[in-house]
Amino acid sequence: MNNKRFIVSLLLLFLLCGCVEQKEEASGIKVVATIAPLQEMVKAVGGDRVIVSVLIPPGAEPHSFEPSPSQMVQMAEADLLVKNGAGLEFWMDKVLQSNENLTVVDTSEGVRIIREGEGAEDPHIWLSPRNSQLQVENICRGLMEIDPENGDYYLQNRDRYLQKLRSLDQDFNRTFSNTTRKTFIVDHPAWSYFSRDYGLVQVPLMESEQEPGPRHLAAIVDLARNESITTIFVEPEFNPKSAEVISREMNATVISLDPLAGNYLENLRYSGQKIADSLA
Ligand SMILES: [Zn+2]
Repeated sequence: MNNKRFIVSLLLLFLLCGCVEQKEEASGIKVVATIAPLQEMVKAVGGDRVIVSVLIPPGAEPHSFEPSPSQMVQMAEADLLVKNGAGLEFWMDKVLQSNENLTVVDTSEGVRIIREGEGAEDPHIWLSPRNSQLQVENICRGLMEIDPENGDYYLQNRDRYLQKLRSLDQDFNRTFSNTTRKTFIVDHPAWSYFSRDYGLVQVPLMESEQEPGPRHLAAIVDLARNESITTIFVEPEFNPKSAEVISREMNATVISLDPLAGNYLENLRYSGQKIADSLA
């Protein structure tokens, strides 16, 4: 009898070990995020249960990006595809046509979208911590859908990260209600949502994705004089030529901000601080 019980417990132990091992093997949920800021959000919510790769690396130009054949395979093999939405991944429909079973999270769900001239969506939603709180909630919902057993884990992680985003939002609120000036010059208009949320005005050097003409540049130089603007913000993936020309004309400082940096929260705090410093 005792012996029998011993064998049964031994068997149970084996089974349990087997289970644990199997679970560990399956625990890496493969997530593909289209841009690096989303990777941080997925990692924050998914913790050690997810393996996240990024499609469009920092420094690449997302507005003209198209996935390579090997990236198509990478997406096909993913358990979850996390996209920014709001028109950033204009190439995505093609991918989904050949991968009907792929689960996709559109992180822009619920975000109040800014529309440009002809109704095109402005895709730069992640650059406001108010929007990214919604993005994080959408990501959490996606993870819970494919891995409902660990829902509580995701919810706890989500809440911890949301707390950080809320506190960044509060800091920005305080900072920008105290700046005397509100207008800042950028090469590429990535800061529309940020500006909407903190009562600012971004003035882009580029004219609808084109290098600016002389008349536009002259108008910006005038504006900079009138508003005592002494900083121009540029992005690493764009040609700095017109920014350099105009900064010489204005005697302004050129500061590089990278909207696609991987250390999302830290980078957004840094960028916001730089913009605030230019308005002080
Ligand atoms: Zn952009």
